[in-house]
Amino acid sequence: MKTFARYFLLQAPFKDLYPQQRYHYLIHSIPGDFFEKNLTNTEWLELAPGEDPDELDYHDDETLKEITESVLSVLQYKVDFVSILDRLFMKEDAACCGDFSHSKKILKQLDFPAAAQFDIFHVLMKKGGYCDCEILFNVFRESEYAQKYWSSRSW
Ligand SMILES: [Zn+2]
Repeated sequence: MKTFARYFLLQAPFKDLYPQQRYHYLIHSIPGDFFEKNLTNTEWLELAPGEDPDELDYHDDETLKEITESVLSVLQYKVDFVSILDRLFMKEDAACCGDFSHSKKILKQLDFPAAAQFDIFHVLMKKGGYCDCEILFNVFRESEYAQKYWSSRSW
């Protein structure tokens, strides 16, 4: 297991990812049967160098449930977040870096403070958006980019 984690550390700026994002990435690089046999009931927190597990900050499900609706409606209707991100991806196809760098830039331009961004990204991850492109693919499926993506796939 250590090999996987270390390999991944070399691939991405781990500390800039939320713990849930790290989990999401790692879990996809582990063979399914191995996971089932050895890790099913493990509480798994991915730590960047220097991080203490007790200091990791994240929302529990109950909190997320309470804020999800308002967060999504703000992003979609009150500010231009979704359409800005959508336009960006329509212009520069496949510009996702596997993190929230574009979204963070947009939210900063829209004057969202850090605490609000924290809420926003935790809601988006809960909805399946673990990086910029997944925010469109999985959360805002009516976006132009998501429509293009889903319609180009044959199931
Ligand atoms: Zn992505």
